[in-house]
Amino acid sequence: MKETLSIIVPCYNEEAVINESYSQLKNVIDKMTTIQTEIIFINDGSKDSTAEMLSKIASNSTNVKVLHFSRNFGHQAAVTAGINYCNSDLALIIDADLQDPPELIPDIIDTKNRDKANVVYCVRDERKGESIFKKLTARVFYRTMNYLSEVNFPLDTGDFRLIDRQVMNEFKKFREKGKYIRGIISWVGFVQVPYKYKRNPRFAGETKYPLSKMIQFASTAMLYFSKKPLKLATGLGFTSVLIGVFYAVYAVAGKLFGFTHALSGWSSIILLIVFFGGVQLLTVGVLGQYIGILFDEIKDRPEYIVSKKENF
Ligand code: UDP
Ligand code: MG
Repeated sequence: MKETLSIIVPCYNEEAVINESYSQLKNVIDKMTTIQTEIIFINDGSKDSTAEMLSKIASNSTNVKVLHFSRNFGHQAAVTAGINYCNSDLALIIDADLQDPPELIPDIIDTKNRDKANVVYCVRDERKGESIFKKLTARVFYRTMNYLSEVNFPLDTGDFRLIDRQVMNEFKKFREKGKYIRGIISWVGFVQVPYKYKRNPRFAGETKYPLSKMIQFASTAMLYFSKKPLKLATGLGFTSVLIGVFYAVYAVAGKLFGFTHALSGWSSIILLIVFFGGVQLLTVGVLGQYIGILFDEIKDRPEYIVSKKENF
């Protein structure tokens, strides 16, 4: 029996790229004769003609499967669905916008076989055609993540990666609804090897990650993988108590020995109220973020809803 591979492609409003993306993937698949490959497209509640385009592709080729979501559930939910519906020995996760070049797939599989790896994660060596803002925020993000997190994440990697059946099976055991997939896969362990590549500019269309989604994504990553923000909040609380004690000693001593004047303290009082008020709100805010996660997780709602399946 030939080894099997599913290529998982999340798509949200990708009408500008989907046909090109499919034809490039098909080209690559046709050349790979030693492995039997299918594509799983996930239409993440697109509002443009992505759904119709995908259905058309699926009706013409039996090795293309499509999952349609009932609405937009987000990139991570789409990839999760792809993994859940994948029955192959291997899964390759790739963006629809051709930023991750499909022609690298055979080489990535070779890397896996050569290094006997369970995961080959692709590392962005260079990012072409992305805004300075995006590059800078990504840089800061991955480094902050590593500082904050209790596991060490490889830097500058996306979800573009190859994973084997063993890792997929472990991945499915993760019950959390807020998924930070690259984090989970890295957390799982086994043999993981990097694969360096140059990230292309988006083939067409616009990024589906506006700043609001980026912040949402970053906070999921941080909060789900780390209790450090809580520890930092505690540290901040301690520091402010220390400052308070010193100030109290100073104020009392000043009163006793007469080097402060009771009525001239307006600025310092305002300063203290603002400072301690800020520290309190900040620490309560951090706490609130974790309570929000508990609230979301405890409801145990589905991560996504599939409205239609094609070729499954
Ligand atoms: N995507 C998705 N659902 C979303 C947002 C994005 O399925 O809510 C898909 C999108 O179609 C693309 C991939 O996730 O295939 C990465 O998105 P994008 O290229 O816009 O992100 P960027 O590369 O700009 O970070
Ligand atoms: Mg992209």
